[in-house]
Amino acid sequence: MAEPVRDVAILGGGPSGLTAGLYLRRARIDAVMLEQQLPGGQAVYSPLIENFPGFPEGIPGADLVDLMKQQVDRFELEIKTFAPVQEFVLDGNVKRLRYEGGGLDAYAVIIATGRSPRKIGIPGEEEYAGRGISYCATCDAPLFKEKVVLVVGGGDAAVEEALHLARFASKVILVHRRDELRASSYLQERILSEPRVEFMWNSELREIKGEQTVQSASVYNNVTGETAEVPVSGVFFYVGNEPNTRFLRDIVELNEGGYVVTDDRLESSVPGIFASGDVRANHFKQVILAAAEGALAAMSAQRYLETIGARKAYEGGH
Ligand code: NAP
Repeated sequence: MAEPVRDVAILGGGPSGLTAGLYLRRARIDAVMLEQQLPGGQAVYSPLIENFPGFPEGIPGADLVDLMKQQVDRFELEIKTFAPVQEFVLDGNVKRLRYEGGGLDAYAVIIATGRSPRKIGIPGEEEYAGRGISYCATCDAPLFKEKVVLVVGGGDAAVEEALHLARFASKVILVHRRDELRASSYLQERILSEPRVEFMWNSELREIKGEQTVQSASVYNNVTGETAEVPVSGVFFYVGNEPNTRFLRDIVELNEGGYVVTDDRLESSVPGIFASGDVRANHFKQVILAAAEGALAAMSAQRYLETIGARKAYEGGH
């Protein structure tokens, strides 16, 4: 027998999806979360979140997400692990999701799939992944105790993670393609006064070399035209992110960067499909905003269910 159509499917279990789940389950709506890994999203990798209200000393991203998960558990949100969506079909008011090993039908969908780290596509980047190349200082910094590491990028993420790495490594070299950081002025002040961090300005990482593991990096100076061979044990990339929206192409409107375009109630170009958090075409990517958007998407989804008359009576549990 076919599975019943669920009220709301939340795709992604980061702060946005978890908050959407909290709001929907607290409103006794039949919501189910689909998450490809463990709930948490990219916030898990942040060593210390200092700008989420309620935590005067800051809180590690993993701890914050754990608290969110505990809160959602109280309201019994069902969380299913799923493979990447292969098919997304619109069938009247019903949205049909198909993935390897399963599928799910729902009246409303909240896309909260976030973003993944961008790759820059240089020689050695794939080859040494996990052998000196990392996208997560929070996870891997202790492996580089008293070693020299290189961080690529000049945004908030690069600076925050370089500061974290400086607690372990003997030296952190930050390679940035311009002579000015993009990061917020607060983070800039902190990194510019950190003695273990050195800067290579106007510089582009061109190649990573090694044997079993990373041993050196070729860094090109785009002002002098010179290339330096820098001995390093690790390379951390923070050159931005790409939205996880491949499965949505031809389904909802995406902007030129691939982010989901929504109205101010966070509804996409398709009625009943909402987007919240980092995957949405918004101006700022912050955990607090992702959580707030999750709440807004949940309330908008609830309104949508009422509009189409699809909201089921809550019978407790699933
Ligand atoms: P980002 O702000 O987009 O910065 C990416 C950095 O990588 C930029 O400095 C960029 O250089 C550089 N870059 C991009 N492509 C490159 C390439 N191919 N080669 C070399 N360098 C390249 O990304 P992010 O730092 O991951 O931050 C993403 C969002 O999350 C931002 O909105 C940020 O504010 C937010 N965030 C906030 C916090 C916080 O508030 N504590 C922490 C982490 C992230 P250019 O500067 O020259 O463009």
